[in-house]
Amino acid sequence: MTRSIFDKFQYYANLREDVARLDANPFNVVVEQVLSETEAIVNGRRTILAGTNNYLGLTFDPRCIAAGRKALEEEGTGTTGSRMANGTYAGHLALERELAEFFGLPASIVFSTGYIANLGILSTIPGASDAILLDADSHASIYDGCRLGNAEVIRFRHNDPADLDKRLRRLGDKAESALVVVEGIYSMIGDQAPLQEIVEVKRRHGAYLMVDEAHSLGVLGERGRGLVEQAGVEEDVDFIVGTFSKSLGAIGGFCVSRWQELEHARYAMRPYIFTASSSPSIIASTRVALSILREQGPELRKRLWDNAHRLYQGLKAFGFRMGPESSPVVAVTLGRSKDSALKVWHDLLDKGVYVNLVMPPASPTTECLLRCSLSAAHSAAQIDAVVDAFGALSGRILEN
Ligand code: PMP
Repeated sequence: MTRSIFDKFQYYANLREDVARLDANPFNVVVEQVLSETEAIVNGRRTILAGTNNYLGLTFDPRCIAAGRKALEEEGTGTTGSRMANGTYAGHLALERELAEFFGLPASIVFSTGYIANLGILSTIPGASDAILLDADSHASIYDGCRLGNAEVIRFRHNDPADLDKRLRRLGDKAESALVVVEGIYSMIGDQAPLQEIVEVKRRHGAYLMVDEAHSLGVLGERGRGLVEQAGVEEDVDFIVGTFSKSLGAIGGFCVSRWQELEHARYAMRPYIFTASSSPSIIASTRVALSILREQGPELRKRLWDNAHRLYQGLKAFGFRMGPESSPVVAVTLGRSKDSALKVWHDLLDKGVYVNLVMPPASPTTECLLRCSLSAAHSAAQIDAVVDAFGALSGRILEN
């Protein structure tokens, strides 16, 4: 048999075959027409979007749109260059200052995406003589950032400070320059890191701590600064990474730090240097979204959390297996059968509800998930419609 360079994709070829029997592919959903923050035409049907990360519902905010439009007209469609060459505009620097101010920290770098922010920080700050200790359920961008660098990489059990402690202890002196990495809200089942305990462990070993607040910026904390603020550990966190693609409704990423020295690392970060910077319109809408988060955050957060509790309680009442706590990410665990997971996902779509289908290896276990993520812009009636759609399929979901 001749070897093909494509042999390794057989798993995906099989998946395609399974999906071909359905009239919609969960991994290639086409939003045919956007109707609002929470609705679109998908597969020819008016559909409630219950699987976006549009937490504060700012994608259609007229103030963000006006700022984006103005920048588009005045500064053009793109910077056509890296931050390090011609791609740093006044807006990029202003957003860095505004993020630093928002978090009350001295150092800040804006990247082209959150994925790239994690690649930049994790491949550069910890070097060959350092170690990274990452939660086993970390996002792919955290794993990829580790791969791109030279540090020793050690995983600890998800949300298990005792396991982290044990692994730091084994590192001996090296623990003092080790970087511990956790997330504020984990994206798959919406659980939060036990941050106070993790801080206690990192402090004891003199290690550094990075928190990825991709899903918690604007969602947690009195001022929306994420789990770090909610847990009251702002003094103890060394790096906060986040994204503009969720609560800020655009695309981009950032890292802020209490270490001014972060600035020295900027020009050593390949993912910062070797990609184009964000378009001026994106930077402009993100700046306005951040100011809205500052001013109207509590009100938007209240709506988001009311929706989260409503959906979590509604689904829990059917007896589904779900994450440990109510959260803007609400996941229902199905069984291992890919086939029945695909069918349930498809039937939800048929009922006008889009959620994310997560299958291993993307799910944290060997089981499939139906993952909802909510928005402050969802109405109570929309949440009830999502609950009803799940309810109509509850027998099959429970059988799974
Ligand atoms: N970190 C986490 C925890 C995420 O969930 C994501 C996106 N899903 C990212 C980083 C990457 O963000 P972006 O979409 O800005 O690349």
